[in-house]
Amino acid sequence: MQVLNNGFVKLLEHMGGDDAVIRNARRCWRSEAKTEDADRKLLRHLIKAGHKTPFEAMVFTFDVKTPLFVARQWFRHRMGSFNEESLRYCVAMRDYYIPEGLEDELLLKWKSKNEEAFDFYDLLVNEHRVVKEQARSILPIGIYTNFLWTVNGSSLMNFLHLRLDKQAQYEIRVYAQAVLELVRDAAPICFSEFEREVLKLGE
Ligand SMILES: Cc1cc2nc3c(=O)[nH]c(=O)nc-3n(C[C@H](O)[C@H](O)[C@H](O)COP(=O)(O)OP(=O)(O)OC[C@H]3O[C@@H](n4cnc5c(N)ncnc54)[C@H](O)[C@@H]3O)c2cc1C
Repeated sequence: MQVLNNGFVKLLEHMGGDDAVIRNARRCWRSEAKTEDADRKLLRHLIKAGHKTPFEAMVFTFDVKTPLFVARQWFRHRMGSFNEESLRYCVAMRDYYIPEGLEDELLLKWKSKNEEAFDFYDLLVNEHRVVKEQARSILPIGIYTNFLWTVNGSSLMNFLHLRLDKQAQYEIRVYAQAVLELVRDAAPICFSEFEREVLKLGE
């Protein structure tokens, strides 16, 4: 799913869904999955009561490309695993964030400042043999990075709760929205109840 001018989020794989969460939750009562209505009520109760561990039975891996400053906010979510392309080992791609709404001279200037930084980076790496791990420090924080994020359903809901909020920066909010759209199909009951109870989208 495309996000911002050059970013994306892809759901690479997931383990578990509604069935796994219901199975884990019902272990507390030595019971098993019942009707959809009863299971939905159970999930609603878990969400309201903050009984979060059954949602850990779902695990998702995403491939994410974001500006560095968005990744920096994302990585603050410690309950998950990240593997990011390293600019110590890989050459930086000439790929940077351009906000919507910049026009005319401002847009030209935005691009030329970024291009200038990349020109200097290329000069350092290719002609002066400066090591990539040092040369990268002259690049702006709007350049794109690419990482894999593996996260369980409970931590994912915490991420969505915080990063879909109006208080969160627009650029991470649009990624959180893309993540939500990708996980809805994987666990439709869990995420519809989550939206209804936590995000209040049903109101
Ligand atoms: C709108 C917004 C503005 C922000 N502004 C800033 C800012 O200006 N500066 C800044 O530094 N950060 C800022 N943050 C980051 C924020 O403080 C959190 O680090 C981030 O949202 C991750 O949330 P989390 O700790 O709940 O997630 P995770 O790190 O994934 O943790 C999940 C949960 O595990 C538990 N947990 C994890 N680690 C610990 C621990 N060490 N001790 C106790 N419990 C733990 C907590 O219950 C936590 O909610 C901001 C976040 C938002 C959403």
